[in-house]
Formats: sequence, C-alpha cells, structure tokens
Amino acid sequence: MGAITKYYTDMTLQLDSQVVHAGRSDFSELGVHAPPIDLSSTYPIHDLSSATRALDGFVEGKQDPKNPIYARLYNPTVGRFEEAMSALELTESAVAFSSGMAALTACLLAARPVGQHVVAIRPLYGGSDHLISSDLLGMEVTWTDQDHVYEAIRKDTSLVILETPGNPTLSLIDIPYVVEQAGRVPVLVDSTFATPINQQPAEMGATMVLHSGTKYLGGHGDVVAGVVATSETWARKLRQVRVATGAILHPLAAFLLHRGLATLSVRIEKAQSTARILAQKIKEHPLVDRVYFPGFRECDPRELVGSQMRGPGCMIALELKGGHNVAASVMQHVKLMTPAVSLGSTDTLIQHPAGLTHRVMDPETRESTGISESMLRISVGLENPDDLWADLEHAFETSSHTSAWQAEPVH
Ligand SMILES: *Cc1c(COP(=O)(O)O)cnc(C)c1O
Repeated sequence: MGAITKYYTDMTLQLDSQVVHAGRSDFSELGVHAPPIDLSSTYPIHDLSSATRALDGFVEGKQDPKNPIYARLYNPTVGRFEEAMSALELTESAVAFSSGMAALTACLLAARPVGQHVVAIRPLYGGSDHLISSDLLGMEVTWTDQDHVYEAIRKDTSLVILETPGNPTLSLIDIPYVVEQAGRVPVLVDSTFATPINQQPAEMGATMVLHSGTKYLGGHGDVVAGVVATSETWARKLRQVRVATGAILHPLAAFLLHRGLATLSVRIEKAQSTARILAQKIKEHPLVDRVYFPGFRECDPRELVGSQMRGPGCMIALELKGGHNVAASVMQHVKLMTPAVSLGSTDTLIQHPAGLTHRVMDPETRESTGISESMLRISVGLENPDDLWADLEHAFETSSHTSAWQAEPVH
C-alpha cells in the first residue's frame, strides 16, 4: 500500500483546524480514519531486555510507545489525546488523568519536593480549594489575590495556583502579571472554563495548564477526565506520579475526549454567542441583582477579554434578589435547562454553587470569596437562545411569586 502523505503536518494550522486534526499523526501509517481504542491491560513482551529498559524509563516518567508493557504505564489511545492537547495548548507535552482532581493532585505531588507551601488565588473550584486547604496532602497554603502574589512567595513555595475565569464567579486573573511575580516558582493555571479555544496560558508563561476534561474537552457530559499540558520536564514528573499512584485515564474516556476535541471550536463559538445574548437578558430582569459575565466591561477591569482571552466564554453567574430560596426556586423551576453540577456539556446546566460545587468550603470563606447563597451558575449549552431565555424567564416569574421570595437562607 502506498504511503498517504499528511500534507498538514508541514502547515501552521489555525486552532479550528487543529482541533480536528491534532493527535492523528499516526493515522495514515495505521490506515485508519478514527482513533483505534486499545483496551489491553497488558502487552506481550517479545524481548525481555528492551522491556526492562523501557520499564526503567517509565518509572522516571519517560514514554516508550514501542514497549507499553502494562496499561498503567502507557496507552496509545490516551497518548493520542495527550498529543492533541499539547498541540492545542502549545506545549511540548500533556499528561492525562482519571479526573481533574487526580490531575491537580499529581501537580501538587510533582511540585512538592521543593516545599509543602503553595500560593493560591481564590476563587477555585470547591474541590480544588478543599484539596489545597485540607490536611489531606499535607500542604500549607497562602491565599492571596493577583496583586499580592510576590509578597506571598516563600523559600519553600512550590507552586502558584490560579483559575481563570474562576469558578464560579468568573473573575479573571492576569496570567503574565502573576507569572512575573512568581519568578522561579512554577505557575499552574486551571484553564477549564476557557479551553484552549479562548486562552493558551503556556504562551503567557504558565508552567502547567490544567483542564478538567470532564467539562468542555469531552463536551457531552459522558466522561470524567483531567489533563495537564506542560513542558516535557514537568510531564516526566507528572507521569512518574501517575505511574506510581495509578490515576490513569481509561482508553475509552480518552477516545471520547479526542472525539470531543474535534467539535470544541464550534461548540465554544455557538455557546459563547448564546451566552452573550442570555447574559444581557438576565441583566435586564428585575429579579436579578447582579450578573457575572466576562463579556461585560464591569466584570473585566483589566480588559483581559480580547487580549489574554479571545472571547468571554460560555459561563454566566447571577445573583437573585431574595436570597437562597429564590435561587433554589429558579433552579427547580427550569424545564429545558438541566439542574445539575458540572459544565461544558451540550445541554445547558444550572446549579447553586454555595449549596453544591463550593459546598465543601467553610461558609465564611465562601461568602468572602463572593459565592453567595443567592448565586446561580449557568453553563450555556447548544440550544437556541430564545428557548433558553423563555425557560429562564418562566422560572424567574414563577419564583418571584412564591413565598420563597420573603424567606431567609437555610443552612
Ligand atoms: C470540575 C472542575 C475541576 C475538577 O475536575 P473533575 O474532573 O471533576 O475532577 C477542577 N477545576 C475546575 C475549574 C472545574 O470546574
């Protein structure tokens, strides 16, 4: 069979072409059009001495696709998704994990030899906040804001951690500004809300770019995953942790993620344009106290949308007049939107951060981070904007006429 030339490998592709083609460099050699799913848990060893050498490499975080040996060490379906992610994030490598939290855990453990102290900027996803604040990994954390990172850094600081846009308030952090203050300390950016379509933090000096793949990368609400795009030096440390702790990504999940990537750009474009429409309508409704959407000038004081970010994203947070019970009522009265945690799915999701995604934080810290009892967070999906607004407006009307309007928050 004659070799099929992949012309695009010599070309500089735009992002919306990259998402379709990245991670497919071995397809013509394999003679396939869709990524094969390799479910092997172990692999035949034909040459013991080369397998032994490969194993020594795996323990040091190196890769050897020709000698996979065992599925906790290497899997080609996962490898293709990682190759795609490194292409999209403009990094040398990417390392995939069984969840976003497994990915964050690996980053903390990989950085830890320098010291147990980390500097972090709130808000973070509630689970990330909890992992860093609790004693589970024996970390010590200094919480700060983007203007005081430099002051927070100590000799034993191993990592600076931030999320932009932040979950759930969508606050934006100036990545180069933080990187500059961090100096020698590696900066981890959780870019889950932005996706590589809207933001490529490694270009701005971030050492590690983390995604909960569960969200936009998978994009269809049917896979749990995490991935870190980074330099090969850091990728080796992360793979060492992954080999040792076992938080690997399942090949079926990797297939779904890789498939999801192909439509990432069109999904973000569509959901983002709907989010703009919806955010404006929400803002004008009398039941609404405040709307958080990076596309609004007042939510982006450093003017990062258009510079650091290509677009405002597809997430909206809002605060309702009437507190917890009105927010709860709105969430329970939508019919088209799905009342559920998570984000980045094809359907629109609505949830109550204080009661759900950020429940694990202590109540005072949560309040002071701006996550109030009257807040709802919406992950805008791919439905028609008129249908979504009709649904939400109806839930607003219904909720403004319930006794909940008068009620006090329930803790
Ligand atoms: C969901 C989420 C995580 C955790 O990811 P899982 O895949 O649920 O483990 C981390 N960061 C952000 C911003 C998230 O939204």
